Amino acid sequence: MDTEAQQILSETDEPPSNIENWNDWRWQLRNSIRDIDTLKNLLHLSQTEMAFLEKVVAKYPFSVTPYYFSLIDKTNSNDPVRTQCIPSVEEENLYFEMQEDPLGEEVDSVLPGLVHRYPDRALVTLTDICPVYCRHCTRKREWCSGKWVRKDEELKAIYEYIDSHKEIRDVILSGGDPFVLSTGKIEHVLRSLRKIPHVEIIRIGTRCPVFLPQRIDEELVSMMKKYRPIWVNTHFNHPNEITSESSAACDRIICAGIPVNNQSVLLNGVNDNVEIMTKLCQGLLKIGVRPYYLFQCDPVSGTGHLRSSIEKGLEIIKGMRGFTSGLAIPTFVIDGLKGQGKVPLQPNYLAELGVDYAVLRGYKGEVFKYYNPGV
Ligand code: SF4
Repeated sequence: MDTEAQQILSETDEPPSNIENWNDWRWQLRNSIRDIDTLKNLLHLSQTEMAFLEKVVAKYPFSVTPYYFSLIDKTNSNDPVRTQCIPSVEEENLYFEMQEDPLGEEVDSVLPGLVHRYPDRALVTLTDICPVYCRHCTRKREWCSGKWVRKDEELKAIYEYIDSHKEIRDVILSGGDPFVLSTGKIEHVLRSLRKIPHVEIIRIGTRCPVFLPQRIDEELVSMMKKYRPIWVNTHFNHPNEITSESSAACDRIICAGIPVNNQSVLLNGVNDNVEIMTKLCQGLLKIGVRPYYLFQCDPVSGTGHLRSSIEKGLEIIKGMRGFTSGLAIPTFVIDGLKGQGKVPLQPNYLAELGVDYAVLRGYKGEVFKYYNPGV
């Protein structure tokens, strides 16, 4: 673990009863649950479970903020929040075609912390620290390599690369979670990127509104406001994650003139049905967040038990389209392996396409003819 990461994560034993502590994001980070011994007292794990889980976390560590942990229904072993953050013995299972890095991000890394795969976009990873480690994470492989924060000299090389590649107009800051860094460090990154004239937009991928809403404080949002246009992409997966705290965090970002989009991942037993996904997306619209993508869970080693089928994803979109506001409906996508890009999938509404007609299927299943002016 490097020194900067150590400062972020150093543990304390301050009592959680203090409400000021509870609302302090650094306290939440420092007091995150990260070992099976602590977990066993909170979730009543059996000796056998504990022994298995020790093995799992040796490979895939875990971390849960006290806030996110408080959302778990402790009486339900299949609770959707629990499934996303508590390690499972099933992470040891081997499944056909699962890989450490199925999207081939390492191959497309042009520098440490910089992936330049698509012509006009670049992805910058600022740290591997997340307030909570999602058990379905695409970058699960990174957790094993120790905690790090991108160093100043690495960042300098990244800015120089982006500066010399005039085709890059969109920079995505990701991780890990960029918002675990100090506001000063984030500002340094934003200011440096804003000095590059061809960088038109900056996107920030963060799950802090969901895991650590206390982090979205006035200091952070008023700093970000200076560097717009910025787009925040967050990651709600279940309606239970929409709380007064997470709603207020999103509201603070939106009030700073920064739009918030949501990228869910389709997860077995968490959100892979029409009712839950409809409730989630309607709930997001109510707090001003636009449902953007519903991702098929990537075939990452250690996540096989959480992957749902493509059929389920299509069934969800079919069950939402026409039955609720179009704005509530995310685009269902599969991230192609080894950098083949995102493939959007839709239920088939086009039954036939002739030169001067089309046969269409309506949302209720009725089939009808439509005049096609042709090419
Ligand atoms: S917040 Fe994102 S990067 Fe962090 S563990 Fe979850 S999916 Fe991975």
